[in-house]
This record gives sequence, structure tokens and C-alpha cells, in this order.
Amino acid sequence: MADRFFPNDLPPFVAETPSHTPTPHTLTSLLSLPYQSLASKLQAAALHLKQSVVSETWGSGGNCVKDYTLYTGVLGTAYLVFKAYQVTKNLDDLNLCLKIVEACDSASENSSRVTFICGRAGVCALGAVIAKHAGDERLLDYYLRQFKKIELPRDLPYEVLYGRAGYLWACSFLNKHIDKDTIQTTHMRPIVEEVITAGRQLAPKGRCPLMYEWHGKKYWGAAHGLAGIMNVLMDMELKPDEVEDVKGTLRYMIKNRFLSGNYPSSDGNESDRLVHWCHGAPGVTLTLVKAAEVFGDKEFSQAAEEAGEVVWKSGLLRRVGICHGVSGNTYVFLSLYRLTGNKEYLYKAKGFSCFLLDRAQKLITEGKMHGGDRPYSLFEGLGGMAYTFLDMIDPQVARFPGYEL
Ligand SMILES: [Zn+2]
Repeated sequence: MADRFFPNDLPPFVAETPSHTPTPHTLTSLLSLPYQSLASKLQAAALHLKQSVVSETWGSGGNCVKDYTLYTGVLGTAYLVFKAYQVTKNLDDLNLCLKIVEACDSASENSSRVTFICGRAGVCALGAVIAKHAGDERLLDYYLRQFKKIELPRDLPYEVLYGRAGYLWACSFLNKHIDKDTIQTTHMRPIVEEVITAGRQLAPKGRCPLMYEWHGKKYWGAAHGLAGIMNVLMDMELKPDEVEDVKGTLRYMIKNRFLSGNYPSSDGNESDRLVHWCHGAPGVTLTLVKAAEVFGDKEFSQAAEEAGEVVWKSGLLRRVGICHGVSGNTYVFLSLYRLTGNKEYLYKAKGFSCFLLDRAQKLITEGKMHGGDRPYSLFEGLGGMAYTFLDMIDPQVARFPGYEL
């Protein structure tokens, strides 16, 4: 596995053709299927994978929960099963989600982690949304009360996976899926101010308005750095000078990206290697798409499209998951498709997902692709691939888990 990614030898475009005769199961034949036929195949594969994910991570449900998180734990399984419910309306799936989240609730009760992806906010927020879908007012109220009991430690970092931004994202998730004032601005505003103040203090004067550190590094990516924090801030009510700082920070990143078009994983890092959601162009693309949607500025949509070109060229990673794998990179094209309506991006999303459908499990078995340290998890493993397949069914509603609202 010398190279980090497979050379992208996908055809630049394959037209969809109504097929009357069964074609051999090849990548090109998958790409030529009418969209609905491909969506059916992806759905069938996703539901099959979901069964494996459930039995490997949850089993009979009697085991105690060791890792409750969305990232590598069973909350990720609940998120996948909830997505399956939204597609099929199978009530067994909804009931299973409720059981899994209940176990995560017990397991995270004394956890000091507070974010959506790696902490208790994810458990309570997802629990509330699932309870709403189940029409269980009492349970909805319970999870909202639990969410509101979460206290942020004073030494909390600022990034998405473990920090303030990751908690604020959970607030936005509730406001989108329950009611716009479920978590009021008066609750979020002091946290937003802490994020802005800290960013201004660490910013290199005259160069970039905001900067943050996590474990001693000034990260740029979606998981631990600027892209992730800016992505969350754009959903907050900001003052005009704060809006300018967010825009200025994104402009600084665009101006200082690599010649290849990729983005450094941290400030001043000259190693142009990572094309992941967590580090590099893919996560930055999603943030730039958000900036284009929120601000409407052409400079951000153009930069998002340029970052998308890097992902097409170097994003067919030798890994499967959404954090640093082909599944996550597929969302770059779904996001650009939503922004631009350009069918070329839908084709590219099809290209990456058909590559996974056709080859991922074989490549993993042969040791040519890494199946993830947690091979059934949402962020590192096959859970993420199944989720991506389900999101391909209706691209307009596709959203990167825990990142796109
Ligand atoms: Zn990653």
C-alpha cells in the first residue's frame, strides 16, 4: 500500500442508458444504469451491509456498550439504522435505533465528552430526533432535558471532534430537526463568543483573522481545525465583524493552499499528502460549499469546485470510511451537485460509490484497501459506506454525517 490512493481511471463520463438485456456486472455497466436502477442496487447493498453492521456492533443487544460514539461506536450504528428507516420506513429499524440510543445514553451518562461526533451531545440530540419520529413526546422531552444538562469543561478545545464547535453543531442539529428555537441563541451565543475570542487571540496578525490549536498544532481540516470551526460558525448568529473574520479566514486558506489545489493539514505544513474529510481538500470543500450557500459569494463556490477537482484526481483512497476514505470523499461531489446542480458532480459521486459497490469488499479482502481500525463503524468502516449508498438514493437530501446540516 505504497500509495495513499488508487489512480482514478474512471471514465470522464458514462451516459445512462435504458438497458433491456442483463449486462455483466462491471463498474462501467453500473455507471450506465438508469439512476433509479443504480439507486435500487445501492439500497440493496446498503441494507445488506446494515445487517452486518448491526450484528457486528450491537449483536443481540445484551452486551454492554464499550464505545458509545458516533465516530467509531454504536451511536454510529444507530445513525445508519435511522437513515435506513428514513429510506424504507421499516418500523423495526426505528425501534432498533431507540434501543441502541438508550444503551448509549446509559453508557455516556458520566462522560466528559460533549460533542456530536465523539460525545454525549450526539447521543442526546440523536435520541431526541428519533423520539420525535417515533411520536414519543415523553422520550423527546427526556433527551432534550439530558442535552440541556451537558456542561462544557472550561479547558474544552474549539474543534469539531472534541471541542466547542462539535457541541454547537449538535445544537444546530436539534434546531434543524426539532424546532428552530429548541436550543436558543442565548444559550449558544456565549460559546460562539468564546470561539471567536480565542480565534482572534491566536490569529497571526495581519494574515488571518482566526486561528486555533489542538494538541499543539494549528490544524486547518474539518475534524480538528479551521474548516470545521468555520463550518459551524456559519450556522450561528454572528455580528458583522465576526462574519468578516469567518470570510477572511476562508480567504486566507484559499490563498495559501498548495499549488496542487489541496489544503495543508495544519498551518505552515508543507506536506501535500492527505485528501481526507478530516485533513485536506474534501472537508474544506464541504465548508466552502457551505460558505457559498450562506454568503452567496462566487469566490467560495469557485474555490469549492477547484477543491473538488483535487478530490476527483487523488481522492480514491485506499480506505473505505467517511473520515478518511472513499465514502467520505463521495460527499464532496454530492455537496457540489447540491450547490451547482451540475450533473457532472452527480456522475462523479456515482463514480466513487460504484467503485465502492463494485470493488471495496474484494479490495479489503485482498489487503489492497484498509477496512478501518473499527471495520464496521460509521466514520472508519463499512457503516460509512452503507450510509453513503443510502444517501446516493436521493442526492438532494444527502448530508455528510455530523458535518452537513
Ligand atoms: Zn480521518
